[in-house]
Amino acid sequence: MNERYSRQILFREIGREGQEKLLTSRVLLVGCGALGASHAEMLARAGVGHLRIVDRDFVEFTNLQRQTLFKESDAAERLPKAIAAKTRIAEINSEIDVKALIADVNRSNVESLIDGCDLVLDGTDNFQVRYLLNDACVKHGKTWIYGAAVSSYGTTMTIIPGETPCLRCIFDEMPDAGSSPTCDTAGVIMPIIATVAAAQVAEALKILVGETDSLHRSLLQFDVWANDRQRIKLGEPNPDCKTCGQRIFEFLDAEAQEFSAVLCGRNAVQIAPPKPTSINLQQLAEKIRNITELKQNKYLVRFTSGGTEVTVFGDGRAIISGTDDISTARSLYARFIGS
Ligand SMILES: [Zn+2]
Repeated sequence: MNERYSRQILFREIGREGQEKLLTSRVLLVGCGALGASHAEMLARAGVGHLRIVDRDFVEFTNLQRQTLFKESDAAERLPKAIAAKTRIAEINSEIDVKALIADVNRSNVESLIDGCDLVLDGTDNFQVRYLLNDACVKHGKTWIYGAAVSSYGTTMTIIPGETPCLRCIFDEMPDAGSSPTCDTAGVIMPIIATVAAAQVAEALKILVGETDSLHRSLLQFDVWANDRQRIKLGEPNPDCKTCGQRIFEFLDAEAQEFSAVLCGRNAVQIAPPKPTSINLQQLAEKIRNITELKQNKYLVRFTSGGTEVTVFGDGRAIISGTDDISTARSLYARFIGS
């Protein structure tokens, strides 16, 4: 084993045996924004051998204040976050195998995404995906680590199906859209991202090396500005919980899914095709070039129409910035990409 990990091996609780376990571990990172980028960097440096990174978005200049893996050139090129992360990780630790997926995590793909992973880390920015992830992980007995940060406060909890309460045991109902502050409405500072991500990754390392007696088994809450820390001890799973008690997977089994979503206060709407698809970006670019000017890279095509900017990905999704009106976004999608 190379000297790269010598200080981590000296740490008794990991040791040589733990390091070997890390090198063969597989972790799914759901979302590669502020939390996800921190998870990816810490896990890659620690030598977690296989990372599957899924993210639906591209790098913007507003991300650079807190999303540590990304550079100005990534934002200038509008590189998808999953791709930018993979490229940067290869420079940090070339021994790590990274699968980068530019995709929205939804009902149709969440079970295949978690399949084969030892652990799932939550780096998303919305409850819709977290409840879906909770359903999928409880159903398949996968451990996942919830994390969220906004403004100067954040929270995390480790969910081991059958052993600890699940997300729904604690938060029975999903908060109403617009009821919680988001990074785009309340802002966010880097130190809380680092705090929550560090707590999540510490738990991840304990799980991957098998040191489960050291897990915090709590709902941890931090406020780095108000200097508050709370540790609420978790009890047993709630037998009445819909998800882990009754095993009713409402989010996974939902008959219809909303495939357009207003992106968290960003003045942008995402439109996704109703089933997984792949589109030929080159053909699309040629078609659109006749109508309006466009920019493209290997992973996306982007153009403006009226006051909006449309970014189309290879999986058929589009993010329409400059509007939060779903019908405007839908009609642009139909007009340029096809309904
Ligand atoms: Zn539960």
